[in-house]
Amino acid sequence: MRDQDLIEVAREFGSPVYVYDSEKITQQYKRLTSAFASVPRLRINYAVKALSNLSILRLMNSLGSGLDTVSIQEVRLGLTAGFAAENIIFTPNGVSLEEIEEAASLGVQINIDNLSLLEQFGTKHPDIPVCIRINPHVMAGGNSNISVGHIDSKFGISIHQTPHLLRIIELTGMHVNGIHMHTGSDILDIEVFLHASEILFNTAKHFPDLDFIDFGSGFKVPYRENDIETNIEELGEKLSQRFKEFCQELGRDIQLAFEPGKFLVSQAGYFVAPVNVVKQTTSTVFASIDSGFNHLIRPMLYGSRHEIRNLSNPEGKPRFYSVVGYICETDTFGSNRRIPEISEGDLLCFDNAGAYCFTMASNYNSRYRPAEVLWHQGQAYLIRERENFDDLLRHQKDPQIDFAAQSAKKKASAKA
Ligand SMILES: *Cc1c(COP(=O)(O)O)cnc(C)c1O
Repeated sequence: MRDQDLIEVAREFGSPVYVYDSEKITQQYKRLTSAFASVPRLRINYAVKALSNLSILRLMNSLGSGLDTVSIQEVRLGLTAGFAAENIIFTPNGVSLEEIEEAASLGVQINIDNLSLLEQFGTKHPDIPVCIRINPHVMAGGNSNISVGHIDSKFGISIHQTPHLLRIIELTGMHVNGIHMHTGSDILDIEVFLHASEILFNTAKHFPDLDFIDFGSGFKVPYRENDIETNIEELGEKLSQRFKEFCQELGRDIQLAFEPGKFLVSQAGYFVAPVNVVKQTTSTVFASIDSGFNHLIRPMLYGSRHEIRNLSNPEGKPRFYSVVGYICETDTFGSNRRIPEISEGDLLCFDNAGAYCFTMASNYNSRYRPAEVLWHQGQAYLIRERENFDDLLRHQKDPQIDFAAQSAKKKASAKA
């Protein structure tokens, strides 16, 4: 979509506002499926936690995607959006047995990531086939907060625990229909991916009921022009080849699955916010926008670098700015950014605002979460309203405690 469209969406629905381009999501989905087109049974399970609006989920469903979910609430959102239960995989970490049982009762594919729950679940429900999340201990990924494959990671069942894993399966009589890994985010080195895949192929041989191998996600997306990114086409070529060989050795075609979040939606999203104040200090020029980490926390949480563009003055003379929010703590979206000259009232646009942006928004500072708009075939659709004051009060209870009377009583008894 064009910058002019973003300006018009902001004018129509107000700002700050999140805008998503359905065309870009569709393109990314097709790019991934084309890269693996030679694999007979390919499955993409979109990771709901990246962006969970029902319209986005329905778009994914129409593309033929399944869902990867990490909470029972995400499972319910998926079912509400019209997904068949068998096209949803539940991949939680550290949740209760009850939550897993609830997901199983809804008919979704269960993925178990620790031996304790595996033993409990297998003992009670030996007939429900499960997928096993393996930790291959292959280091990948950027920021340590989003890298989950290392030896101290809380995710997955360590490859070194395979003997114990097999013993539980044998003793409970349960069936393993899938194995899974997800080693982290921002994987650039395809060799790392291929190496981890070999570990899964080796593990897979232990499971006669195996129907799929899920290679997780973690594809690095570009954040600006000429930025580095995972070479999906090269990965597709190499992994497809190896996967088909593996199926041949196995003697049947099993399913190859991925569960991308960021890859599908990151670049499809824009966060548009107006500038409230331009403030010159002794060391820098601040542009304060009508937002903060209550709306977009990724730069502060793990240093992600979103391009910031001035939609209102794209041809202006570039100057250096620190773009900050209104939260009463340091909330810097970007320092020393070269941006076309900013005036108060200008609209700034943050790129790559599709994944882990709105879904991480909060009401901190008692602010409203912004609206979400879907841009589809040249038309803007409101897919979530901006919150209002009633939303802030909705779940608060006022039991009408008479604080004044109680403190008066205390004073009186202290005197006596
Ligand atoms: C978050 C997550 C994903 C999606 O990761 P991206 O980096 O957004 O593609 C996939 N699988 C699991 C298990 C996850 O927790």
